[in-house]
Amino acid sequence: MRTEVECGPAPGPPGGRRLRQLAGIDVGELRRVGPARRDALAALGIRSVLDLLTHYPHRYLDQTRRARLAELAVGDTAWIVGDVAECRVVGGPGGRRGGRARVELAVADGPDRLRVTFFNQPFRARQLPVGARALFYGRLDTFGGRRQMTNPQVDLVGERAGRIVPLYPASERAGIASWEIAELVGEALRRAGPFADPLPEAWRARLGLVDRTAAFGAVHRPAAPDDWEPARRRLAFDELLRLQVDVQRRRAAFERDAAGVRHVADPPPGTADLVRAFTERLPFALTGAQRRALRDIREDMAGSRPMHRLLQGDVGSGKTVVAAAAMLVSVQGGHQAAMMAPTEVVAEQHHGSLRKALDGLEVPDPGALGGKRSLRVELLTGRVPAAARRRVVDGISAGAVDVVVGTHALLTEDVRFADLGVVVIDEQHRFGVEQRAELRSRAASAGGPTPDLLVMTATPIPRTAAMTVLGDLDVTELDELPAGRSPVTTVWARTPDDEDAAWERVRSQVAAGRRAYVVCPLVEGSGRVEARAATDELERLAAEVLAGIPLGLLHGQLPAAEKEAVMARFRSGDVPVLVATTVVEVGVDVAEATVMVVEDAGRFGIAQLHQLRGRVGRSDLASWCYLLDRSDAPEVAERLQALVATTDGFALAEVDLELRGEGTLLGTRQQGRSDLKLASLRRRHRRLVAQAREVAAALLGDDPELERQELLAEEVDLFLGEAAAEFLAKS
Ligand code: ADP
Ligand code: MG
Repeated sequence: MRTEVECGPAPGPPGGRRLRQLAGIDVGELRRVGPARRDALAALGIRSVLDLLTHYPHRYLDQTRRARLAELAVGDTAWIVGDVAECRVVGGPGGRRGGRARVELAVADGPDRLRVTFFNQPFRARQLPVGARALFYGRLDTFGGRRQMTNPQVDLVGERAGRIVPLYPASERAGIASWEIAELVGEALRRAGPFADPLPEAWRARLGLVDRTAAFGAVHRPAAPDDWEPARRRLAFDELLRLQVDVQRRRAAFERDAAGVRHVADPPPGTADLVRAFTERLPFALTGAQRRALRDIREDMAGSRPMHRLLQGDVGSGKTVVAAAAMLVSVQGGHQAAMMAPTEVVAEQHHGSLRKALDGLEVPDPGALGGKRSLRVELLTGRVPAAARRRVVDGISAGAVDVVVGTHALLTEDVRFADLGVVVIDEQHRFGVEQRAELRSRAASAGGPTPDLLVMTATPIPRTAAMTVLGDLDVTELDELPAGRSPVTTVWARTPDDEDAAWERVRSQVAAGRRAYVVCPLVEGSGRVEARAATDELERLAAEVLAGIPLGLLHGQLPAAEKEAVMARFRSGDVPVLVATTVVEVGVDVAEATVMVVEDAGRFGIAQLHQLRGRVGRSDLASWCYLLDRSDAPEVAERLQALVATTDGFALAEVDLELRGEGTLLGTRQQGRSDLKLASLRRRHRRLVAQAREVAAALLGDDPELERQELLAEEVDLFLGEAAAEFLAKS
């Protein structure tokens, strides 16, 4: 503190300090960083001064709000400041009966004493000698009738007088403490001087964001408790803005460079209108949401820019019908369509249902007698036998196959489309921006236009997250389920009696002519183990609770023909119960299925369970989903209770994000140096995400190369550019 008053902040470079410059300065250049500290910092991932300044405190302690020992109750989590009055090392190797090594302190806060015990942290004896003043953060408990804290977080307070103490993620094992990081940050901030700000003043004012110099200052050394929130908000905004600029710029470049297919969305009278022919033959009317989605898609497809659209819809909202119509828009103009499914079972099923739905439709073919031929739908997965595969691949390159459904096998080298107009991805695993680009360029016929792209999510992604992670896509939401669906009754079966009730439901529904799924616990490891688990479970069920009922077995290791056969027998009802691994998770569609039993449900994530539940309740028949789990772990309870509480996939997606965090949603590159250290895609930052998106669009709108926002461009490149990506790949 004193030094700061004496020296004042350095003037810094004209125009202010740039992050790129700080990225180029090794922390070793700080006065107080010698080789040992440099290593300790490296262990925390801090190599440059930029790394140091973006190593943010994870907690702030307000000296005026610290607890006094006398006021604390057992069970409270709090922080106190005290002086070490006694320090001793007990047990450990060579100690009495090999007890666990521990360091025991007596800490004095005025007249009150607290025992503080550290297990397996022998360095605490050196760090906290008698007389040291330190801050202890932890939960107050009792041991042998005395009040104590066990393994609290520690920060040496020393003589520092600041009102707010920032606590940094630190590594005392590596030999660097939070207070030392705070000192280094102080030096770095002083020497950096004022920061250049990539966000124009007008936007700062409009969004009520503090400037960058104030933000870096207050995030690390808030003068008052009101200071850190605006600072963190501003820096979080910067993280989100960089992501938005990156994603929107890629999209703009793509649209500029790629020519799309101008599809025939509204065929003139007298020519083939396959979309109408298809929808008229459906046994139901489209929902309003489906009609709106189809309108968006047709508009996109008729335009000259390639479509880049995400179709978000809850399980059962009828995405497949919309996708089929999009493919027909392509086909009716003489182009091909491809659909990529997440698993072979789903691909086979889409193929089967599309074949049925499109049977008898004719496509224009100038070469054929009468100028027409039958529409041809084919399947291409890794399991299609070689001869059949050859025929399909040849048909694709000759333009004789109109619609092809497959898995990743669609993207192998020898598959070349004559004239691909649209690609639909029924997405289970989230592709990143680059994978989508790659996929599209591979799918394009050599030299031809870029096919349209429709991505369907298996389960919804919260809006805020979608805007960021999938910010390069336009979004259409199917926010309406087909009429006449009765909601699925969900039960968490946690006792043996509950389980009996579940099996009784299976038996009674089967007796009533319905079908049931039993999904076995997900077994990590080889497919063989998984197959074994499902087989064992089938044998157990056949011998016990489901004796006398024909049971089918479905798992990933079965040959394709066998999978198809078992699915066919399940559909027809010959085998009313299907014992399966998670291959049924996505997309399997059997309307008579009314019971879903998930064993060991706590092992599955929310999205997966919601998908599984979506396999039932697909008609107006009453349906049940039983989640079997006897665990009383809180994480399990949170998930299973969320499923019991709601069947709304959009709401569940929000819960999932709150519970699991955003890591799982981001692509590898986006997880790079930006890694959203302060920003969150959760509800908390919903507005900030929308604002970042708006600012990015405005800045790029009339300045697509960011020529007037050179600093912002430099930072996007620094955090998300190729150089950053390479750097990451190497480290
Ligand atoms: P998802 O969005 O989960 O992929 P699907 O496309 O598989 O949903 O559709 C679920 C079920 O609803 C299918 O059996 C489908 O035939 C049926 N379906 C789709 N649209 C409608 C509709 N408008 N009215 C009634 N049933 C519909
Ligand atoms: Mg589907």
